[in-house]
Amino acid sequence: MNTLSSSGSGPRIAVVGAGVVGMCCALSLADRGARVTLFERNAPGRGASWAAAGMLAPAFEAAGEPGVHPALFDLCLAGAEVWKSFSSRLTALTGRALDYGDAGALACAITQEQGERIMALASACEARGVPHICLEPEDARRREPSLSAELAGALELPTDQQIDNWGVVEALGAALADAEVRVLSGLSVTAIDGEPGNMHLDAAPDDVFDAVVWTVGESARLPVHYEGEITYLVPEGAIVPVKGQLFSLAPRKAGPRRVLRFGPGYVAPKASRIIVGSTSEWNVDDTHAELNVIEALRREAAQICPILAEGQITRIWAGVRPGTRDHGPILGASSIPGVYQATGHYRNGILLAPVTGELMAELVLEGRTGGFLEKFGMSRFDGAGENASSPSLASIR
Ligand SMILES: Cc1cc2nc3c(=O)[nH]c(=O)nc-3n(C[C@H](O)[C@H](O)[C@H](O)COP(=O)(O)OP(=O)(O)OC[C@H]3O[C@@H](n4cnc5c(N)ncnc54)[C@H](O)[C@@H]3O)c2cc1C
Repeated sequence: MNTLSSSGSGPRIAVVGAGVVGMCCALSLADRGARVTLFERNAPGRGASWAAAGMLAPAFEAAGEPGVHPALFDLCLAGAEVWKSFSSRLTALTGRALDYGDAGALACAITQEQGERIMALASACEARGVPHICLEPEDARRREPSLSAELAGALELPTDQQIDNWGVVEALGAALADAEVRVLSGLSVTAIDGEPGNMHLDAAPDDVFDAVVWTVGESARLPVHYEGEITYLVPEGAIVPVKGQLFSLAPRKAGPRRVLRFGPGYVAPKASRIIVGSTSEWNVDDTHAELNVIEALRREAAQICPILAEGQITRIWAGVRPGTRDHGPILGASSIPGVYQATGHYRNGILLAPVTGELMAELVLEGRTGGFLEKFGMSRFDGAGENASSPSLASIR
């Protein structure tokens, strides 16, 4: 096991990209004594991490569609476990509850297709020993009175929680300040030079770093200059942009109180807004929300939860998930010596960010490998460009 050491009081680590993944990596590294500088080309946390719905949903991954990484479900469970203490830490620091609760989610069905999906999910949960409760329509409506009278059935998933991702980003900012992480916003890193122990970034030419952690979300598919050469950190096609469109409504008294899933769609009610999403548009890289798509989303959501047809939409938006072919993240070494990467978290980046931070800090500072790091390395994508489509091209449209 190699251990990163440097002269002075702790290894100097640059983390590039301040989404929720980069912020959690920076925090875990600082917790373990590293001197961390976090670079962000815009403002921290305003990429996919801001666009997300904030569901922490390991059980929803239990179904393991064909082609999905066989260890993704276990990683998601580990991610949910870390959130239990991590949310308390953020809440204690900021005094904000972050909407983290224990209500559990309901996967709902009206149509036959939705019914088949929840039956398949129930079987997968059964096989994996994941807590789940099959509910008759009246039991589901007792738990969640906003559900439609047309409901055919529901599956309660007690392990699936949610959190306010906007609150998380703000709280992480406070935690980073508390941990004395240097955050440099408005600086894009486009060039890396040097070798482990003596690395330079164009965004801060006077600084020297022992190692770099690359956490740029879906931008990880773009090249950087390394020693003057155009260099890709991941194999071609390993990271795929996956656009998602959403809208929100103002919270209301008779509105939904817990996360509702219906096929690929969902409702995630926060204290400040009710989020309804989302499309999954593979290989689409823009953040433009289309009104006809939003209307279709709203119609579908209102079938499950009729009150969602009422009231004005307060916001429409789109974000781009950092997708991978097997839906799992890429954690570990990159093609550049001394540059580690944590990207490709697809639809589970909020759930997986704290556990990713822990894994990456152990790898970078203690040289620890194996376990999830071995399973989620980038080598599994060698030759990915030959077949970069997803196992699930589900879209609301
Ligand atoms: C519509 C939608 C819904 C989602 N819902 C959920 C959900 O309910 N639950 C869940 O767990 N996940 C969800 N996700 C997924 C989750 O949002 C992402 O997996 C996660 O935010 C990825 O985090 P990240 O830090 O890797 O990327 P980002 O949040 O995109 O952060 C990357 C950052 O890197 C910066 N950057 C890029 N290049 C450079 C550079 N060269 N130099 C400096 N900075 C750079 C960017 O500006 C950005 O701030 C959703 C995503 C979307 C789009």
